[in-house]
Amino acid sequence: MVEKMRGLWLFHSIVLVVAHSRVTFVGDQVLRFRVISQEQLAMVKSLAELDNLKLDFWKEPVSISLPIELRVPRKHVHTVKSFLESNGITYSVMIKNLQPLVDEQHMSMLGSDLGQNGTDSFNYGDYHKLKEIFTWLKDLAAENPQLVRRIKIGRSSQGRALHVLKFSTGRNRPAIWIDSGIHGRERVAPAVAIWIAKKITTDYGIDPSITSLLNKMDIFMEIMANPDGYVYSWTTNPMWRKTMSKGPGTHCFGVDANRNFDANFGGNGSSKAPCAESYCGPHAHSEPEVKAIVNFIKNHGNFMVFITLHSYFQRLLYPYGHTHMPPENFEELATLASEAIEALTSLYGTQYTHGSIVQVIGESSGNSIDWSYDQGIKYAYAFELRDEGQYGFKLPPNQIVPTAEETWLAIKKIMEHASNVLP
Ligand SMILES: [Zn+2]
Repeated sequence: MVEKMRGLWLFHSIVLVVAHSRVTFVGDQVLRFRVISQEQLAMVKSLAELDNLKLDFWKEPVSISLPIELRVPRKHVHTVKSFLESNGITYSVMIKNLQPLVDEQHMSMLGSDLGQNGTDSFNYGDYHKLKEIFTWLKDLAAENPQLVRRIKIGRSSQGRALHVLKFSTGRNRPAIWIDSGIHGRERVAPAVAIWIAKKITTDYGIDPSITSLLNKMDIFMEIMANPDGYVYSWTTNPMWRKTMSKGPGTHCFGVDANRNFDANFGGNGSSKAPCAESYCGPHAHSEPEVKAIVNFIKNHGNFMVFITLHSYFQRLLYPYGHTHMPPENFEELATLASEAIEALTSLYGTQYTHGSIVQVIGESSGNSIDWSYDQGIKYAYAFELRDEGQYGFKLPPNQIVPTAEETWLAIKKIMEHASNVLP
């Protein structure tokens, strides 16, 4: 009895410690609204600069044509709503209380490692902790020695390995790049990539499309492009987006890795403020996570496709983000995007739109597809996966597999096109 009580007491202490070390979002709301004038836009931007409100823009205020989505901490919900109302801005409450959604993802990850034993028994419909994902990467390569190799391309700022999976059946082939997880909180992206990597191994030799593709091209997948941010979003702050590097002279840490590429670095649509969510970093490629991708792609020298997976918005994006000037093969990129989303929608009816980053989400400097496009990679795409905001970054685990299945159809279209234009 005493033993049992002591056990219980210990259990409660652990739960308390865990509860206190993680950031919580009880009563936090996510609001969606549009502004209809430049004055209103300026008002909302000024709101964003009030650090004490601790606002978190899920969709940044960039223009009057695009929706704005904003997470507001519970204690400022009233203030922010009054502010919007007094400025004539109509809003809707997208998420009334964020915490239950955070808890659902957390529970999914908590129970996900039970009985992990090879990639067949892995639960593709759950979110997973980094350790399990790393074990899975190792298992996938070990189970498919003729097809898959695991390559380490660098280390994160906290010393974690940056792994790439190479799917290959020959030597010196033109290549396709797919990365996910560069933003910590966008958890559905690596979950989808894991499903896709497994799908490639099961479908090679069966699906004629993927078989002929892999007889001409290699596929490289970096499933955990920002492992530090992913871990931090699990242990401490489920809303964490950036890397975990620490710069001098600021109490804030982390850089937005998708603003850290050398593509109009530090320009519009990125921030020079170290505490900002879109902080571009002290200089281009300052983040080891970004540097590893850059070096790998440059050294390889023959990538034809660059795909990066993000969430959320249901958009398929292509260059540019840093300029309104269309890229040279804009028409081709747009036509292919339209075919890709048609294939995606055919499965479950999920609606996507496509366009260049500037057209669809607004200016963004230092992003990876602008950089890769300027390296000569003519098929550069960014997916903003499910959903359109009902759950936002907190997509429930039961949507992982359907999201992966539909996304795979779109990715296949892009890869097939690249393969078809090969001499
Ligand atoms: Zn992202």
